[in-house]
Amino acid sequence: MENCLFCKIANGEIPSKKAYEDDTVLAFYDIEPQAPVHVLIVPKKHYTSVMDIESADQALLSHMIEIAQKLAKELGVSKDGFRLVINTGENGGQSVPQLHIHLLGGRKFGWPAG
Ligand SMILES: [Zn+2]
Repeated sequence: MENCLFCKIANGEIPSKKAYEDDTVLAFYDIEPQAPVHVLIVPKKHYTSVMDIESADQALLSHMIEIAQKLAKELGVSKDGFRLVINTGENGGQSVPQLHIHLLGGRKFGWPAG
């Protein structure tokens, strides 16, 4: 989608520090990391939020989780644990209106989330 920050990053119009890329998904390091490991996993197709995901998109979502597992291993947080977050809408703290999964690790997180 035009004028979507994460679509521009996903199609390479805006540079990012990439952690993983294939035909459907880009993962890149957050520019304001909230943990020692903080990667964003973004589909190359635009979805405004997780509410746009339909049955036909289940394979994509599952693929994004697969990438999260792979990166958690590669970045050394799979044993100690990590957090996957999909913020949605204003109350959910979604800052960019494009579906993305945060992979956060390298420190301990509290629960419930603040
Ligand atoms: Zn977008």
